[in-house]
Amino acid sequence: MIKKLIRKILGTKDKTAKARDTNTPVILGPDAHGIDPKLLSSNAVRVTSTLQEAGFEAFVVGGAVRDLLLGVKPKDFDIATNATPEQVRKLFRRAFIIGKRFQIVHVMFGQDLLEVTTFRGTTLDNAPKDDHGRVLRDNTFGSQAEDAVRRDFTINAMYYNPANQQVLDYHGGIEDIRAKTLRIIGQPEARYREDPVRMLRVVRFAAKLKFTIEPVTAAPIPVMASLIDNVPPARVFDEMLKLLMSGHALACLQQLRKEGLHHGLLPLLDVVLEQPLGFKFVTLALDSTDSRIAAGKTVSPGFLFASLLWHQVLEKWTAYRAAGEQTIPALHLAADDVLDSQTEKLALQRKIGTDMRDIWSMQPRFERRTGKSPYKLLEHLRFRAGYDFLLLRCASGEIDAELGEWWTAFYEGDEATREDLIATAGQSSSATGGAASKRKRAPRRGGRSKGPAEAAEGGAPGTGGNGGGE
Ligand code: ATP
Ligand code: MG
Repeated sequence: MIKKLIRKILGTKDKTAKARDTNTPVILGPDAHGIDPKLLSSNAVRVTSTLQEAGFEAFVVGGAVRDLLLGVKPKDFDIATNATPEQVRKLFRRAFIIGKRFQIVHVMFGQDLLEVTTFRGTTLDNAPKDDHGRVLRDNTFGSQAEDAVRRDFTINAMYYNPANQQVLDYHGGIEDIRAKTLRIIGQPEARYREDPVRMLRVVRFAAKLKFTIEPVTAAPIPVMASLIDNVPPARVFDEMLKLLMSGHALACLQQLRKEGLHHGLLPLLDVVLEQPLGFKFVTLALDSTDSRIAAGKTVSPGFLFASLLWHQVLEKWTAYRAAGEQTIPALHLAADDVLDSQTEKLALQRKIGTDMRDIWSMQPRFERRTGKSPYKLLEHLRFRAGYDFLLLRCASGEIDAELGEWWTAFYEGDEATREDLIATAGQSSSATGGAASKRKRAPRRGGRSKGPAEAAEGGAPGTGGNGGGE
């Protein structure tokens, strides 16, 4: 009664939590939820049954249940239990307790990794927080109902027990799945303050699942977006990577822009979403990444980030050359600048940075089509990624399509064809364009590509790079 009165006065109690008892789950049997048990991984069942046989409760939880309900095979399985991390660890041969902020157990079967978490408690009052209210550490355990409250969105807070095939739904997740709605659990402002990454997550899910973000959940995002600045860069980077590798990268970035999440937040997104010149290039890169993921192919993060930042590199490369630097050193300086500015905020991992640099620095080498140069380039460890990148540049109209076609023929051709190609390249007057050929180089035997051929937007027909390296 008093609670009701307070709510009325504050006018807070949202339309988010409909009047429902969130301590008692709605229980759905197989006929009601329609999950196909064949979509379940045998290892997930192995983990839940081992825990249950040892006397604990254990459920598949989170994104896996959401995907099962949508009829999609989950890419990984999370398990929730009332066993403590130590109790879980003892039950499996290869199990490791990890994590600081939340302790979880990694259970391994061969290459397959399952995350097992102990039900979390709801009391965050005493949990250590940063100056902005972000929860830093929290290992208090609780009941399943409390665990459900702590999850981010209603559709991510359901529990599936493979043993009796029941789904336990505490927050109306089923209804929201059916209505294709993303709804945060609890009071949105408070939940985003506790963990600002939830703002990126909701955008990713909306774009990936083609769900609508319910208005109360969406409203605070543009206002609170800057809180993401206080999140450790490595975590933001992980979330960005998930977003870009979701198979719906393009849709995700468009949604980020729509929710007002890109502005001044991550330098990477500013660059990507607001560069008019690189827009076509980035769109092609993301599109081909999405297609590769749809086709079950791998995508290298290095290739992806190299694409996203290429036009920033191009701009700086041109500036350094205009200031008198030679082509190759100028490219390295441009790469340094771009990597430095991104590393600070995004915690680009060293390996990814190295891959990006490799891909970029290969680009001028594609213009040398005489003598031994093309053969040497072909042997480069990352040739395939560099070549795919070149094709993207052609497809976006940045450089002449002829260069990409030449390299495709060279790459696929036999020895005689290659010799021919090298001979004809000598006579070809193709302007392979781009910044690289602007500088006049010392004459070489057989001549070479020439002319500035400034980034001719929309010029060349696409040659269809696959965008991901191999
Ligand atoms: P994906 O398909 O990307 O794996 P997911 O929902 O499984 O989606 P995970 O990051 O694997 O996402 O998290 C597993 C579950 O843990 C989520 O479904 C959600 O219940 C909970 N969770 C993850 N991150 C948060 C968060 N920041 N705040 C609250 N709950 C979270
Ligand atoms: Mg998951």
